Amino acid sequence: MNTFYNKSVEDTMKLLEVKEGGLKDSELDKRREKYGFNELEEGKKKSVLAVFLSQFQDFLVIILLVAAIVSAFLGKLESAIVILVVVIINAILGTVQHIKAERSLSSLKALSSPIAKVLRNGNRIEIPSREVVVGDIIYLDAGDYISADGRIIENYSLQVNESSLTGESESVLKNTEKINGEDVAIGDRKNMVFSGSFVTYGRAVVLVTDIGMNTEIGKIANLLQNAKEKKTPLQVNLDNFGKKLAIVILVISAVILVLNVVRGTSIIDAFMFAVSLAVAAIPEALSSIVTIVLALGTQKMAKENAIMRRLHAVESLGSISVICSDKTGTLTQNKMTVQQVYTDDKVIQKDHLNKDDQLQKKLVLSSLLCNDAVTVENKEIGDPTEVALVNFGEIYSFDELVIRDKYKRIAEVPFDSDRKLMSTLNEVDNTKMMVTKGALDVLLSRATKIETSKGIEPLTDGHKKEIEKINKEFSSKGLRVLSFGYKPLEDKSTIGIEDENDLIFIGLISMMDPPREESMSAVADCIKAGIKPVMITGDHKITASAIAKQIGILKDESEAMEGYELEKLSDEELKAIVENISVYARVSPEHKIRIVRAWQEKGNVVAMTGDGVNDGPALKQADVGIAMGITGTEVAKDAAAMVLADDNFSTIVKSISNGRSIYENIKNSIKFLLSGNTAGILSVLYATLFALPIPFAPVHLLFINLLTDSLPAIAIGLEPHNKNIMDRKPRNINIPILNKEFGIEVLLEGLIIAIVTMISFHIGLSTGNHEVAMVMAFATLCLSRLFHGFNCRSKQSIFKVGVFANPFVWYAVILGVALLTIVLTVKPIMGIFEVVPLNLSQYISVYSLALIPFVLIQLYKLIFVKSTDSDK
Ligand code: ATP
Repeated sequence: MNTFYNKSVEDTMKLLEVKEGGLKDSELDKRREKYGFNELEEGKKKSVLAVFLSQFQDFLVIILLVAAIVSAFLGKLESAIVILVVVIINAILGTVQHIKAERSLSSLKALSSPIAKVLRNGNRIEIPSREVVVGDIIYLDAGDYISADGRIIENYSLQVNESSLTGESESVLKNTEKINGEDVAIGDRKNMVFSGSFVTYGRAVVLVTDIGMNTEIGKIANLLQNAKEKKTPLQVNLDNFGKKLAIVILVISAVILVLNVVRGTSIIDAFMFAVSLAVAAIPEALSSIVTIVLALGTQKMAKENAIMRRLHAVESLGSISVICSDKTGTLTQNKMTVQQVYTDDKVIQKDHLNKDDQLQKKLVLSSLLCNDAVTVENKEIGDPTEVALVNFGEIYSFDELVIRDKYKRIAEVPFDSDRKLMSTLNEVDNTKMMVTKGALDVLLSRATKIETSKGIEPLTDGHKKEIEKINKEFSSKGLRVLSFGYKPLEDKSTIGIEDENDLIFIGLISMMDPPREESMSAVADCIKAGIKPVMITGDHKITASAIAKQIGILKDESEAMEGYELEKLSDEELKAIVENISVYARVSPEHKIRIVRAWQEKGNVVAMTGDGVNDGPALKQADVGIAMGITGTEVAKDAAAMVLADDNFSTIVKSISNGRSIYENIKNSIKFLLSGNTAGILSVLYATLFALPIPFAPVHLLFINLLTDSLPAIAIGLEPHNKNIMDRKPRNINIPILNKEFGIEVLLEGLIIAIVTMISFHIGLSTGNHEVAMVMAFATLCLSRLFHGFNCRSKQSIFKVGVFANPFVWYAVILGVALLTIVLTVKPIMGIFEVVPLNLSQYISVYSLALIPFVLIQLYKLIFVKSTDSDK
């Protein structure tokens, strides 16, 4: 295999047959054929058959299969067949649900799949990383995930975090120099970059040398393949609950088995009954219903621009009580336009600049040189702050590309949001000049001189005061201010952070970034919903406060704090005041993590937005880390639980409302399943305790639990949003879903269903025919559980939330009733399900009784539940 670190850039290009303008479309197919797609082979996906077979691994299904075998041996071939058929249909349903959930999750994953910036046919374009081929020239910027291994061909202070490969968390400084030697360790291949690592600083142009499984990470990818999607806390909680409940039910079943045998039932009948009771009562579908409802819910959220990367975050979303949000682009439009300029002691409106004024011209030229943005065919590429400067230059007919060609860039120190500065070294009239732009407070502290029309003079406190006054004036209007300085650096060919001092200040440029129209109402919605919005920004405190005031985040200036003030506070002190602060200005990414922690320690569930490479830790620390889809770096997206496709604050608020609804829907589905199962077990307990005959044939319980139960549960999970969901305070995350109040409701509702079922059973018994009684009990239990589906749609009565607002429950119930009708009336099937025909008055009794729980519970909700009441 070729190694590339010990070859020159030219040799590498030649070896891989790559020309200057990158690959041409015509070359791609051949390369793809040779090297395949740029992807790591995922752990094999389960085939449909494997998913189907895995349905039989369930403990309950195994019990059922044993029961089928036992009954077949004892000559009860018919019941063995029924059990088998029911189990198979149940497994088919389970498989369909599993595949549907998996599909919607993988389509979500595709939405947040990484992209790469490549040079193809001479143009820089963005493509999915999967489509990168060997020989592609890719561009790397700070915050990018590196999607393939490559040889660096142009380097601008590139630093890369290679911890995924080497375990070393310090960034590695890269260069383009050829390395002599063989067997150089990965960590020492300074002229190469590797897939799976990410750019922490600077930028580079890289020639792709290996992709997919041939990359260094690909070689160790086997280690990564087994990473399974973890269960959500709710699922773990339910699984644990399910296991405990199963033990209790197995004990009850065993007791009933013994009692029945003692009372003279044959061992096989008693055994079959105990088994079916266990199957009917153990809520084995809980965890899978949660997955399905979550998967369907996240699909809907994706359509509304919120892409969930981690399922468990949907649960936390509903209880968020604090949103820490960036300002630029999230609360504001990120469409900046230059408003005013300050230089030579004058404030000048944007279109009143004098091109012949040397200083004014110098300021505009500086803003184009210390700048990476371009506009090509009316398309703006780059950071909006810099785009605004390019557009500003156009007013004076400066073309950024012509200027940059004339005053060539020799070196640069890229912008980073910790330092808040950017510098370039340019050739200006046969000498070299370093141009620096950035936040005024930082730049002013590095400046020692000022240039005015009188020439260059020392920067005095008087100058500083005047400049700061103007800055304050701009900022208090909500304008963003950039300051500019320069210094000659004749004998330098590279520059570093250490050169950013002794600057000559030349002026300020202010720009407007108006708030998004939706921000104001989204902030108001937040506050109404008991959620505290907090603005965290790298921008100036006065600018940030002005914007925060406009959109309703801040009322009083005392609620704003700067990064340096925060730095002075201990964690305890920060915790004590955190609730009083609504705006953090001039913060660095490290401050964000402290703010999140302080809120969390106060018992809050915190959402935090981020876009930069250094935001990763804060995004991970937050309960829901939210990355920007448009402006966010790949690193931020990778660390986040949710990606905002439109970078919009109001989308966060919308997804919280979705999160609240999804949680409530899940809770209602669980209630439906548990209350129905409770009804079954209470009926059997009643019959056993009072020495009545067995109330159901085993197949009856199997029919209900395995066939008519899961569809209504899913349908309840699809209940549309409650309009009032954002009028309430956030749910307390410490109250478990299965709390006492919930348990009491489940028991009571189960009891009502059990009572009507047993009344029906008694009516049947009064005819003297045990078989009729069993059919009546079975039909009543099945129907009342189906009708109970309507009760479980909401805490409110369906007459308040809309009888037809959730058509899926109607479909599920109608299908259930149809299936039951077939079982009760179609001859050959009746036999299989041990059903005897009922007469009209018996049908009337069954239907009337089955409607009673529905009527009673709806009446209760209409009379006693206030329209503002919600699940806790
Ligand atoms: P937010 O954190 O809300 O997104 P922001 O965009 O202002 O706000 P940063 O990008 O960290 O935050 O910028 C911080 C400061 O750095 C800005 O207020 C500005 O003064 C300066 N700045 C921003 N972009 C550049 C740039 N491209 N070059 C030089 N300085 C910049």
